[in-house]
Amino acid sequence: MSVQNKVVIITGASSGIGAATARLLARNGAKVVLAARREQQLQLLKQEITQSGGQAVYQVTDVRQPEQLQTLVELAQKQFQGVDAIFNNAGIMPNSPISAVQTQQWNDMIDINLKGVLNGIAAVMPIFTKQKSGHIITTSSIAGIKSFMSCGVYGATKFAVRNLMEVIRQESATEQTNIRTTTLYPAAINTELLQGITDTAVLQSMTELYKQVGISPDAIARVVNFAIEQPEDTNISELTIYPTKQA
Ligand code: NDP
Repeated sequence: MSVQNKVVIITGASSGIGAATARLLARNGAKVVLAARREQQLQLLKQEITQSGGQAVYQVTDVRQPEQLQTLVELAQKQFQGVDAIFNNAGIMPNSPISAVQTQQWNDMIDINLKGVLNGIAAVMPIFTKQKSGHIITTSSIAGIKSFMSCGVYGATKFAVRNLMEVIRQESATEQTNIRTTTLYPAAINTELLQGITDTAVLQSMTELYKQVGISPDAIARVVNFAIEQPEDTNISELTIYPTKQA
C-alpha cells in the first residue's frame, strides 16, 4: 500500500508539521490540498511541491469559518476528483497559567483547536459516509493525554479532540462506514508554535525545553504517511511521538 494518488486535505499547512507532511506526502505521490491563513507561505509551498513533480493546490482558509472548510473540500473534489483524507492539524498554543485569566487566548484555542477540528470533520463527514471510506487524522498533543501546568486550556482542547476522534472510530465501525481515524500526540517538535506564547516565563521555559530536546516536524510527517498507507482494513488509531531525549 502507499499514499500514491490519495487526495489529502491538510490544515495548518503553512508551517511546521502541516508543511512537512505536505512535502512528504506529495513526494510519495499524494495530491495535497493546502490550507492555512497565510497565503504567501501556501503559495511558496505549492510552488515547491509542483516544481519537484508533485501535485498541490491551496486555499487561504481560517478553520474557525465552517464555510471555508466546505469550499476547501469542494476545491479538492474539483481539482482532484475526490477526498480520501483530511489532516486536521491547524492549532495554536498561547500557554499561560489559568491564574493569568487570558480569556481571549482561551477562546481562540477553543475556536481553532477544537471547533476548527469539528469544522473540518463536518466538511468531510457527509462525503466519507456516502463513499464508505475516508481517513480523519487529527493532531492532538501529549498535552491531550497528560496534564501540564500552563497548558490548562490548550490541554483541554487536545483532551477534547482525543475523545472526539475515538468516538468517531467507534461510530464508524458500528455504522460500517469504514472511516479511519488517527489521532497524533506529539511532544516537543520544533515549529513556529511557541511564537504564539505571550507569557514571558512560559515562553522562556518552553523555548529552553525545545532547544534541548525538540525534533523536526518530519518525524510527524512520517507517522502521518505511515497511517495513511496502511491497508483499508487497518486503522492506526493513536500514536504518541516523543523526542527520544524528552523525559
Ligand atoms: P506551527 O505554528 O508551525 O503551525 C500551526 C499551523 O496552524 C500554521 O500553519 C498556522 O497557519 C495554522 N493555523 C493557526 N490558526 C489557524 C486558523 N485559524 N486557521 C487555519 N490555520 C491556522 O505549529 P505546529 O506545526 O507545531 O502545529 C501543528 C499542530 O501540532 C497544532 O495543532 C499543535 O497544537 C500541534 N502540536 C504541536 C506540537 C509541537 O511541539 N510543535 C506538539 C503537540 C501538538 P496560519 O497562521 O498561516 O493560519
